[in-house]
Amino acid sequence: MKVSLFGAAGAVTGSCHLVEACGKRILLDCGMIQGSRIEEAKNALPFDFDVKRIDAVVLSHAHIDHCGRLPVLMQYGFHGPIYTQRATADLLPVMLEDAASLAEMDAERRNRFHKDGHSHHKPLFTRHDVGQVVRQLERLDYRRPIELFPGITVTLQDAGHILGSASVRVQAVEDGVTRTLVFSGDLGPRNTPILNDPDPYDAADLVLLESTYGGRLHRDRAATLEEIGQIFETAWKGGGNILIPAFAVGRSQELLYWFAKHFDDWGLGKWRIFMDSPMASKVIEVYDRHEELFDADAKAMFHGRPHPFRLPNLKYTTDVEDSKAINEHKGGCIIIAGSGMCNGGRIRHHLRHNLGSARNHVLFVGYQSAGTLGRLLVDGIDSIKLFGEEIRIKAHRHTIGGLSAHTDQSGLLDWFGAYDRHPRVALVHGEDDARKALALALKTRFDVDAQIPAYGDTLTI
Ligand SMILES: [Zn+2]
Repeated sequence: MKVSLFGAAGAVTGSCHLVEACGKRILLDCGMIQGSRIEEAKNALPFDFDVKRIDAVVLSHAHIDHCGRLPVLMQYGFHGPIYTQRATADLLPVMLEDAASLAEMDAERRNRFHKDGHSHHKPLFTRHDVGQVVRQLERLDYRRPIELFPGITVTLQDAGHILGSASVRVQAVEDGVTRTLVFSGDLGPRNTPILNDPDPYDAADLVLLESTYGGRLHRDRAATLEEIGQIFETAWKGGGNILIPAFAVGRSQELLYWFAKHFDDWGLGKWRIFMDSPMASKVIEVYDRHEELFDADAKAMFHGRPHPFRLPNLKYTTDVEDSKAINEHKGGCIIIAGSGMCNGGRIRHHLRHNLGSARNHVLFVGYQSAGTLGRLLVDGIDSIKLFGEEIRIKAHRHTIGGLSAHTDQSGLLDWFGAYDRHPRVALVHGEDDARKALALALKTRFDVDAQIPAYGDTLTI
């Protein structure tokens, strides 16, 4: 068995690994590259492998950096099955349709600059392409091995990262010998709200391990929650609004879970709470349908009061007029809106209306990558231009560190430490600093020499 890395080697986006065994070729993930415009232009380029020879895709989860290039794979001639966990199959159309409409809008905007009437810019993919992807989906359950091709068995294990997220075990029997590859996918922290902890593994010949936070330890969750409670209290006393930029899948649902859990001690009953994200609302419908994947704590809570997704004072705003109407309230509102890094979406309108007043607070609960508006705000920029308007920032900004959907270095080490014998390990899905830090920690704790492969490298098992 061989595995070649065609993405997320030395970066955190564009996850894509090609497995070859028993005469078959299986792609693990087909993610979108995210970053600067120059980086993102690579998404439209041909793949560095022969797409027509791919027999199947196995998808770890529905984040766009793991699935977002599937429609492009179809454009280049892939017609095989796409295997994934059931909930991921339900989330996928929501994620890809959103990406398609953003791509369509972006192409339209850029074509406006051309006066010759021709459309020079084509969207990366369209909703039509998304339909094709959805038709190829094959739904799998966790922990149920399935023989994809003679000699090749795939098992999905819970990765505890977002709903439906999986680690993928590929077992291949060649010349009478069974070899096992485990691809961690993205791993969630233990005790993540709503989801189960990542499943432990017993054995593998090679582990492809994510390393997003390979060099970091997250802040303690209890301290984080206490901090949020205090900010809410301060904001209420000051008569302001609270804005929370949040990703539509994972973080938005997690926030509502914490809101329900701390409804009384955070004094949430007196606030107006808005989930101002049509996409997050659709994702919540998918979560609602997959209670079987919740952990015991969440199952109990979703049958108690208040129900996290149906808090008495929570309003889902889908149409634009309702969203605009929120800005008539000059205080007493908690507004959760996308995008999570403020580089698009409705949050920008709310920032425009709220950043200028010292009564208001902005809570950053997720990773803000370099170059985004979110990062500028976190870094303390004192004025910005939004929709042509210069705003001097007076609102309070808070960076909340302890709610990540990715586990930290100690969680990665614990997950790896569960293997019977410490297998060979190659680090993917992390910046190089994070990979080096995790490699050092693996050496120190387990005396294992982790590989740090480069783009295009092939590992033979
Ligand atoms: Zn992810």
